[in-house]
Amino acid sequence: MASFDTRNRTAPIRTAEILCVGTELLLGDIVNTNAAFLSKGLASLGIAVYHQAVVGDSSERLRVALADAFEGHGRPAADLVILSGGLGPTYDDLTKETVAAYFGRAMELHEESLARIRDFFTRTGRVMTPNNEKQAMMPEGCVVFPNDYGTAPALAIGDGTRTAILLPGPPAELIPLFNEQAVPFLRRFTEGILISRNIHIMGLGESTVEAMLHDLMVSSENPTVAPYCKSGEVRLRITARAADESSARELCDGLVSQILQDPRLAPYIYGVDCDNIETALVRLLTDRGMTLATAESCTGGMLGQRLTAIPGASAVYTGGFITYTNEQKIVLLGVDPSTISAHTEVSAEAAAEMAQGARTRLGTDIGLSTTGYAGPGGGTDVNPVGTVYIGIATKDNVVTHRLYFPNKSRDYVREAAASRVLREAVHAVL
Ligand code: ATP
Ligand code: MG
Repeated sequence: MASFDTRNRTAPIRTAEILCVGTELLLGDIVNTNAAFLSKGLASLGIAVYHQAVVGDSSERLRVALADAFEGHGRPAADLVILSGGLGPTYDDLTKETVAAYFGRAMELHEESLARIRDFFTRTGRVMTPNNEKQAMMPEGCVVFPNDYGTAPALAIGDGTRTAILLPGPPAELIPLFNEQAVPFLRRFTEGILISRNIHIMGLGESTVEAMLHDLMVSSENPTVAPYCKSGEVRLRITARAADESSARELCDGLVSQILQDPRLAPYIYGVDCDNIETALVRLLTDRGMTLATAESCTGGMLGQRLTAIPGASAVYTGGFITYTNEQKIVLLGVDPSTISAHTEVSAEAAAEMAQGARTRLGTDIGLSTTGYAGPGGGTDVNPVGTVYIGIATKDNVVTHRLYFPNKSRDYVREAAASRVLREAVHAVL
C-alpha cells in the first residue's frame, strides 16, 4: 500500500486533543506538566483544545482513547491528537506501535534514526542495548522529527483529515521538539495566528478586576479579554486572532493601551508581558539606571533570591542583609536600639530604619525592608501573626506599609510580603 504522508493533508487543523500516556501519570507519581505545556502551545497556534486525556501503558486503552479523540463522542472531533510518552525503548513503551496500527501502517526500520541513535550513544559515552534499536522502527509514511535531546525520535502520522503527533515523555525532550519541529509543521495547517499579551495586576482580587471590566470582557470578541490568577496577582490576557502576526499584534495593542489607561486599574498595573513582579522591577530600575539594596527579617532572603533569579539583576541589585535578630538589625543596618525598645522590631519605625539602613550602607537609590510575624507562633495583640511591615526608602523619603495576612501559612505570609514590597518598589520608581 502506498502510504499517505500527513504533510499532504488538505483539511485545516482547528481542534486538537492531548493524550498523555503513562501509568505513572495515573498513579500520581508524576505531574502532567506536558499537558499544560502542550495546551498552551496549541492555544498560541489558534488550535482549540476541547479535551485532554491520560491513559496507562495499555495498547487497547490507548487505541480506544485515540478513536474517541478523532471521532469526538460528545465533544468536537479532534483534527489533531498530540500524544506524549511511551516512545522509549522498553516493553511498556507502545505508543508508536499502537498509533501505527490505528492508521493501518506497518513498522519499518528508519536508517537515519538508527544512525542518529548510535551516534547519540557514542557522544554520550553510553552503551547501546538491542532494545534501543526499537526506537528506530517507524510507522511507514510518517514524518520523522529527529530528536537532538534524547534517543526517541518524534513523529507525525495520519491521513487527509486526521493527524497524530507523537512526542517523547521527558519534558526536556518534549518541549524543544514541540517548539522546534511540531510548531513549524502545524503552522502549515492552521488558519491565521493568535497573539496574546498579559497585563499584570497586583493588589486587586480577580473578582474586583472582573467587575471593573465586565462589559469589556463580554463585548470583546477579537481580541478577547480574560482574567486569571497566578502567584498572588491577577493577569488579564488579551488574545487576538488575525491572518498574520502584525495584524494580530495591532489588534492586541489597541485593547492593551485602552486597559492601561483605565484610571481604576492603572495604580495596580505593574507591567505588561513580564514574567513576574521582580522582572518588572529589574527592568524598570535598569531603564532608569537606578540601584537597589534589601534588608530582610521575616522573608529571610526571599527578596534577594527573587531578584537574583532575574538575568541582568546585577546591574541594579547591589546586595542585601538578612537581619533576623534585633542585634543584627542594630549592628548591620544601624537601626536605633531605642526604636526597637519603643516600638518593637515589628513596627513601621523599625521597617523604615531598616530600609534606610540598607540604602545608605550600600549606597543605592532604593532600600527595601521586611519585618513581621510569619507565624505560626509569635505575634502580639497589636500585631498578630500574619502582620508584616515593609519599608521602601528612596533618596527623599521612606514609606512604610502595614500588611496583614490572617490565617495564612508561614510560607504564604513570607511570599506575599516579598511580592508586596517588590510591587511598592515598582510604584516608588514609576
Ligand atoms: P523514555 O525514552 O525516557 O522512556 P518515553 O517517551 O517512553 O521516554 P515515558 O516512558 O512515558 O516517555 O516517560 C518518561 C519520563 O518522562 C517519565 O518518567 C516522566 O519523568 C516524564 N514524563 C512522561 N510523561 C509526562 C507528562 N505527561 N508530564 C510530565 N512529565 C512526563
Ligand atoms: Mg518510557
